Amino acid sequence: MREVLPEPDEPVWQDYANCLGVDPDLFFPERGASTREAKEVCRGCVVQEDCLEYALRNGEKFGIWGGMSERERRRIRRQRALARAAAEESSVTA
Ligand code: SF4
Repeated sequence: MREVLPEPDEPVWQDYANCLGVDPDLFFPERGASTREAKEVCRGCVVQEDCLEYALRNGEKFGIWGGMSERERRRIRRQRALARAAAEESSVTA
């Protein structure tokens, strides 16, 4: 399915991001560094779900997106892949 792009002057989810104006380094901590502060910013963000889905859809490998770390997003991707495989298998056997 083709993605419908918004008009240039139409607001997009990024316009409502809680992290606008926040130091981007906070969302890309060094390996092993705390993600707590970034997640705290995400916690009150009204576009958290859009942000997370964007990261999952685009395979963002680094940083905090939608309040989740790389490892947490990997887990979601794995769970979704398993669910898709199970759904495909049950549709084949049905
Ligand atoms: S969820 Fe976090 S990283 Fe995503 S837009 Fe909101 S504040 Fe920024």
